[in-house]
Amino acid sequence: MKCRRCKAEAVVSLPSHNTAFCADCFLEFFSRQVDRGIHEQKLMTREDHVLVALSGGKDSLALMLELGRQGYNVTGLHIDLGIPQSSPAARSVVERFCAKYGFPLIVRDMKNEGLAIPKVKSMLHRPVCSACGKIKRYFFNQTARKGGFNVLATGHNLDDETARLTSNTLRWDIAYLSDQGPRLDDADGFTRKVKPFWRVTEFETANYAFLMGIENHYAPCPYSQGASFSTLKSLWIDLEEQMPGRKMNFYQGFLERGRKVFQGVEEKQGEALAPCERCGYPTSAGMCGVCRIREALAEKEGCPETDS
Ligand code: SF4
Ligand SMILES: [Zn+2]
Ligand SMILES: [Zn+2]
Repeated sequence: MKCRRCKAEAVVSLPSHNTAFCADCFLEFFSRQVDRGIHEQKLMTREDHVLVALSGGKDSLALMLELGRQGYNVTGLHIDLGIPQSSPAARSVVERFCAKYGFPLIVRDMKNEGLAIPKVKSMLHRPVCSACGKIKRYFFNQTARKGGFNVLATGHNLDDETARLTSNTLRWDIAYLSDQGPRLDDADGFTRKVKPFWRVTEFETANYAFLMGIENHYAPCPYSQGASFSTLKSLWIDLEEQMPGRKMNFYQGFLERGRKVFQGVEEKQGEALAPCERCGYPTSAGMCGVCRIREALAEKEGCPETDS
C-alpha cells in the first residue's frame, strides 16, 4: 500500500479515514488532527499554563510530547501512588521522559501525603479504583490551583471518550452526559480540564508513540481489573470495522447536538458546590472525598482492633 500524500511505502493504514501513510506523513497527519481538535473545541492557547497529567502510559507521554512540539507551555504532573508493584516503574519512565525532552515535572508522592494506595485499599471493603480516582483528581486540581496553571490536560483519546459516552448513555446518566466532552470549563474552584487527543484513536496514538520512540516500560497496576471500558471498546472495534468512521460521527454528533440537551436538564438538577470544611476543596457534601478517606484512615490507625 502507498502513502496517500507522498506515494512512498505506507506503514500505517487508517480505514476510518480511508487512507494510509508513510511514517513522516502519518506524524504530520497526527499533529494536524490534534491541532484541529484543540481549535475546534477551543481547548487552549499558547498563552495558557498547561499542566499535563503523566501516568507513565504511552497516551499521556505522547500528549506531552505533541503539545510541546506544537509550542504549548506544558509542565508534567505525576502522582506517585505508592504501589510497590507499579509506581516506581511508572515514576521512573516519567522522570526519564521529562529529563530527555527537557520538560518541567512536578511529582506528588502519595506516601508523603499518608495516602499510599495499598494503605487506602486496606481499609476498604470494595475495589480501590474509585478512591484512587478521587485522590488523583484531587491532587491534579490542587496542584494546578496552587501552581498557577489554568489548564489541566489528560491523554484521553477518541476510543476512551466514545466508550465513556456509550457507558453514560446506556445508563442515561444525565450528570455525566452533561459534563462529558474534550473541554470542561473552570468553575467553582476546579481548573479547566481538556482532552487534546479527542480526535485521535488509541491505534493512532500507539503508532505515534512507537514512531516517536516513546519508551514503554509501563508496569500494570496490580489492582486493575483490566482495561477500563474494555467490553464497550471491543464492541466499538467491531462496529468500526463494519462501519468505518462511525465512532467519530457518534462522538462529534453528541458534542454538536446531544450534549446541550443534557446540559439544560442538569442545570435545573445540579448540586451546589461549597468549599470542603477541612481543606477548602470544592464539594457538595460538607467534607470532600479525600478528607473523608483521611478521616477513615486516622480512625483505623487509632483502633488496633480493626480487622480489615
Ligand atoms: S487500576 Fe490502579 S492506578 Fe488505576 S484507578 Fe485502580 S488502583 Fe488506581
Ligand atoms: Zn508519505
Ligand atoms: Zn477536603
